Order: sequence, then structure tokens, then C-alpha cells
Amino acid sequence: MEPATIILFGATGDLAKRKIYPALYNMFLDGKLPQPFSLIGLGRREWTDESFQANVEKSIKLFSRREPADPDTIMSFIGAFRYRVLDVGREEDYRKLLEQVEKRERELGIPQNRLFYLSVGPELFEPIALQIRGSGLGTSNGWKRLVIEKPFGHDLESARRLNQTLSQAFAEQEIYRIDHYLGKPIVQRLESLQQAHPAFYELWVDRQIANVQITANESVGVEERAGYYDHVGAIKDMFQNHMLQLLMMTAVHIPKDSGNGKGRSKKTKVMEALEPLQKETLRNRVIRGQYTEGVIKGDFAAGYKSEPGIAPNSMNDTFIAAKLQIANDDWRGVPFYLRTGKRLKEKSTRIVVEFQGASEPVGEESHSPNLLVLELSPKESITLQLHSRKQGRSETFQPIELDLGANPMNAPEAYENLIWDALRGDATFFAHWNEVELSWQWVTPILEAFAENEAPLLPYAAGTYGPAAADALLEADGFHWWFDDKLDREDRQDQNSDRKEGIRYAYHTNH
Ligand code: NAP
Repeated sequence: MEPATIILFGATGDLAKRKIYPALYNMFLDGKLPQPFSLIGLGRREWTDESFQANVEKSIKLFSRREPADPDTIMSFIGAFRYRVLDVGREEDYRKLLEQVEKRERELGIPQNRLFYLSVGPELFEPIALQIRGSGLGTSNGWKRLVIEKPFGHDLESARRLNQTLSQAFAEQEIYRIDHYLGKPIVQRLESLQQAHPAFYELWVDRQIANVQITANESVGVEERAGYYDHVGAIKDMFQNHMLQLLMMTAVHIPKDSGNGKGRSKKTKVMEALEPLQKETLRNRVIRGQYTEGVIKGDFAAGYKSEPGIAPNSMNDTFIAAKLQIANDDWRGVPFYLRTGKRLKEKSTRIVVEFQGASEPVGEESHSPNLLVLELSPKESITLQLHSRKQGRSETFQPIELDLGANPMNAPEAYENLIWDALRGDATFFAHWNEVELSWQWVTPILEAFAENEAPLLPYAAGTYGPAAADALLEADGFHWWFDDKLDREDRQDQNSDRKEGIRYAYHTNH
């Protein structure tokens, strides 16, 4: 890895404190930072180098996955940090920044490789990119890269505008759009799972999959993000980016001989093949919900409209479930069910691949299909659930779990993987513009339907798994969400009367 300077906009902010400094620190301990390493932090606050370094040290102590090392190690890490006051709108601040960056590069004797990390609100992305170009910061003898946080636009048009502006300063291969779900170790192992295990690869390509379920449930509410969340909802906050990225990662068939970049182009192909929805008919395929008051793990939880900072008549979605179809030879006819929401019964992010059921009845539990289960959070593991005859010559079958590898304790976190990749110039686990554009395009009819109330906003009690209509989505096809608590499903049936007519409720016995 070549030495480089990280130029961090938003160095005084929450993301830097919680994620970026702890990630850099752990990379430092693992020998994954360039040597020598240099970081210049920027913000409007009147910090000095010393107060900046003290803040970085504090954040490591609070948020690092590892205990802080001895004082000498900490000192040699934070010694690489410098701070400069910069107001995004002030042109002369960039000129002074350039002087400081060049001075540091000379002092350290490092090439002019510059990684611009924009850990600031999205309204600042465009002015910063243009100033980087205009000030000469982006013109150097070394490489330049732009790391950008979400959200990338708030609809198709704004995303296109943003991309157009960024591309005046950076080429596509220089832009690293963070979707931190792509940095999660289990997601990064999806590819190797297919490639290292021929049996899996064959299952993936040989139409042995009955359906795929992707869940990203949260038990928390809007927390301190009410003002932002009430304008975006689950559809823009989670679905358009993280959920569709997880779908692409699961659906992509990466040829064994693929090199850097092939996986990305294959992901774009998945998005291109995603069957479009029509605004008028999507109510059968997309369920949207908003939580009402309820109880989560014994504690009372207020309804969404009563949360501080939320409009009392808000029509914002806090839950989305959808059935998606990929119209290509690999996946035609295999439904992908996605759901995400807030104030649900438990926090869980997982991908379940349900394989086709046994063709011949084999005992009482013959209908229990085999599952590949990827748990992304709170625990991280990959298991294959099979059914095996109970001891002896019993006719009954019982599920057994094959552990395909839990994530080791203290494994690198998403931000460590992503920053490391960006420093090495590997964009595999970042969102390409084509994927972002196609994702916005795909959700546009949903956004329109929501805006025009074409899709009903269904209430669900906090502490459940969302509106029962989200179950009916699968039940209509003879499936059900795996790993939802059975009792809760029965309770919810009583509580909710929003189920679609004509779809029979039946939970299966294989929980
Ligand atoms: P934040 O805590 O509000 O921090 C914003 C940063 O921007 C501060 O360092 C602030 O510095 C700086 N800033 C604001 N206006 C500025 C200006 N005019 N000139 C120079 N600097 C300015 O926000 P955050 O939570 O860190 O989020 C940063 C980005 O990460 C956002 O795009 C967000 O969507 C994304 N993100 C955050 C999280 C998270 O967990 N926090 C997770 C995923 C994505 P001063 O106050 O010193 O001016």
C-alpha cells in the first residue's frame, strides 16, 4: 500500500468519532495503514492539533473494538493527526489546506496520494467536490480518491445531479460510495462461499433455490434522527441502498476466474434484470407500515407519531416489505422477499436462502426445507440447516445446523474493511454509480405511490414483526418468514385486521 494522506471533512462529527477513528486505530494495530500515515481533519470548530488528537484518543477509548494499547502505541497513532479549521463555503480555506497538505507530504517524504473522505451532510458533497477541483487539491502527481457517505441523493433526479457534479472532479473509478453493509464480514464472504465450495456454487446456479429472504429489523425507533427520518422513511433510509445492495450481493453469480471489478459489473446486471413495479399495481408487492405504541422486551414504546420531532399527522413509512423478481435465467421465478423496519420485536439482520423442498415425503417433517442462513447482526454466522433422521431408524426428522463459520470475536468491523479497501484502491465493496442509479430508478414508482397514497400505510404495534400483510406476501406463495417467533405471529393475527382478503393465514410447523 502506497503512503497517502487522508483528508477528512467532518472530523469533528459523530461518524468520525464512532466509526472512522476506531477503524483507523484498529487498522494501525493490524499494520493495515500506509506508512508513513497522515490524516488532516477538517471542521468549523476551533480545534488545535492537540485538542483534535485528544478527541481521537477519547473516541478510541470509547468505541474501539480493542482495548487501547499502551500509551506509546497510542501516541504514535495519534501523532499522525493534524487539524485545520475549514468552512466548506470559504474558498481561501481550501487554498490554505492545499499548502498544509503539500507541506505535510514534503515533511513525511510521501507521494501526493490523497484520499478525500466526506463525512459531512449530503448538502456539502457538491460544494466540497467542486472546491477540491478548483483549489488544485485534486491535481497532484499521485492518485486521488473520494470516499462519500450516504445518502447519495434523495431521489433519482438529485442522485443524477450529484453524480454529475462529482464527476466534474473525480472519475467513476476514483469515487468510493460507502454502503457499510457491504463492509460487513459476512457479506464479504458471500462471494467466497460460492467460489470456495463447489457444492454451493452448483446450488446457486442450478435452480435449487425456492426463495430468498432478506431482513433488516431494528428494535430502536428514530432516536436523534427524527427530523431526517420523517422525510426519508424506511424506503430511502434502508431499502433503496442497503437492502438492494444485499439483494445484489446475494443474487450475483461471480465466475470463479473473476478479477477486481467483475463482481461489480455483475451486480449492475442484477439490478438491470430486476422486474420493474408499476405504481398502480405495486400494492400487491410492496407493504408499507408505520409503528403504533407497543411493548418491546417489556418496555413501553411510544407510537411513531408521538416521537419527539415527528409530525403528529406523519404519513412516513417506518416499515417496508416487498416481493422482488429478477428476470434473468438464473433467478426467473425465484421470489426475493425483503423487509426492514423500526421498532420491531428484535434487532436482526439476516439473509435466508431457502432451498427447494424434498421431492419425496420423508417422515413427518418432510416439508421442512434446507436453509442457508447468514446472520449479519447482532451475531455474525453462516449456517446450513439440514434435516436428518433422528437417532436409530426413527421416521422423524430433526433439523441440524452445520456451522460454516462464525465471525471470530473481535474481527475487523465494516469501516475497517472499507477504509482499507479504499486505501488499496479496491472498489469491489463500494456502490458503483450504475447500481445507485438503477436502484433509484427501481424505487421511483414506489416513492410515487407512497406520495399519492396508492399504497396503504398499515399500522403495526411496536414490538411485533410489522404488519401482518408482510406475512401474507409470502404466504400467498406458500412460504413464510423464517425465524419469526411463532407466538408473536399468532398474537399479531389477533391484533391486526389489515390483512388482504383472499390470502389464507397459515404458519408452518418448522420453527
Ligand atoms: P455530524 O455529527 O452532524 O457531523 C457533521 C460534520 O460536518 C461535523 O464535523 C461538522 O463540523 C461538519 N460541517 C458541517 N457544516 C460544515 C461546514 N459548513 N464546513 C465545514 N464542516 C462542516 O454528522 P455525522 O453523523 O458525522 O454524519 C456525517 C455523514 O455520515 C452524513 O452524510 C451522514 O448521513 C453519514 N452517516 C452517518 C452515520 C452515523 O452513525 N453518524 C452513519 C452512516 C452515515 P463542525 O461542526 O466542526 O463545523
